[in-house]
Amino acid sequence: MTVVVGIVPAGGSGERLGADRPKAFVVLAGKPLLAWTLEALAPVCDRVVAAVPAGHEQGEDRVPGGPSRSASVRNALAAAPEADVFVVHDAARPLVTRELVERCVGALGGVDGAIAAARVSDTVKEAGADGRVTRTLDRSRLWAIQTPQAFVADALRRALDVDERTLALASDDASLVEAAGGSVRVVEAPRENLKVTRPADLRLAEALLRC
Ligand code: C5P
Repeated sequence: MTVVVGIVPAGGSGERLGADRPKAFVVLAGKPLLAWTLEALAPVCDRVVAAVPAGHEQGEDRVPGGPSRSASVRNALAAAPEADVFVVHDAARPLVTRELVERCVGALGGVDGAIAAARVSDTVKEAGADGRVTRTLDRSRLWAIQTPQAFVADALRRALDVDERTLALASDDASLVEAAGGSVRVVEAPRENLKVTRPADLRLAEALLRC
């Protein structure tokens, strides 16, 4: 039987949100952000390990967060040596659904990673430090990457076995798997699976939950 372990990086301070507590514990429509994520992951996973800020470790399957997001992921996966598959989901994306988690895990056949992503609808350009545009990218091939991100457990373990600086520079886990030579595919996800970063994102998430 395949053992699927959920990993929730929830160790951030959430400074940009300006709340009185770490972001994962900010309440959205009556429940902390972390609780929304745990509810979506639990039915798909044998176990869910959350990496949380110092002082919030009480409770089962909580480990201390690290100095960066990927360091937090590494702390959590070290607590689950039994895993065959990891599914990583940021506590900052509370609108995730069980269905999306299942689709990412289900898309793992033949690849090391299967990651939620939305098609890009804006035109994306590259510009230099002076603001001058250097090129326009082909939008039809661009995806905005989200979590959940499902991985063959050994591929993620190998990818995260790097120094703290490399971990700190990674904005997602899939990029580390790619850098280690792993194969990753996108799984089309709804744009509504938004990331709560600023106060306006919290209001938008609340409005979407009411729909
Ligand atoms: O800061 P950002 O919104 O990019 O963080 C994405 C996710 O990573 C959040 O769920 C946050 O709690 C988590 N994180 C973490 N450890 C850190 C920094 C961020 O677990 N040191």
